[in-house]
Amino acid sequence: MLDEIHTGGCQCGAVRFRVDGSLGDASICHCRMCQKAFGSFYAPLVSIRDAKLTWTRGAPKKFRSSNFVERGFCADCGTPLTYEAPDGIALAIGAFDHPETIAPKLQWGIEGKLPYVDTIATLPANHTLADTNAAPFLKDLVSYQHPDHDTDHWPER
Ligand SMILES: [Zn+2]
Ligand SMILES: [Zn+2]
Repeated sequence: MLDEIHTGGCQCGAVRFRVDGSLGDASICHCRMCQKAFGSFYAPLVSIRDAKLTWTRGAPKKFRSSNFVERGFCADCGTPLTYEAPDGIALAIGAFDHPETIAPKLQWGIEGKLPYVDTIATLPANHTLADTNAAPFLKDLVSYQHPDHDTDHWPER
């Protein structure tokens, strides 16, 4: 849809993006390079396909992870943001302001899949504030994370 707009950015707010148009395939990639690039078990990525990507604040720093691929990230806070290949750009799903609307539809790189990934959903599950006895600082926590919407100025004040 042409009037579709998606926004997002890094954790600190130095880099913000907007995508005008429909997103392409959403996936997770288990390959070892995506694990490293995201510091995670796998990379959640969505292709921008024919939509228009605009960096509305700052721009990612890039690391060339292979002869064909660059990976963009915030130079200030380290949030992974892009996977840029000859056939197009994909954005990190978790960096969007509304990642809950971008469900992965397929998996790649399963040769690198970590052996415990499939059973994570069966682990004991707790809310963050369930642990205030062991971590009393949580009660007084003040977030410096950029909010999940565009801002005229950041940091605020
Ligand atoms: Zn940042
Ligand atoms: Zn990968």
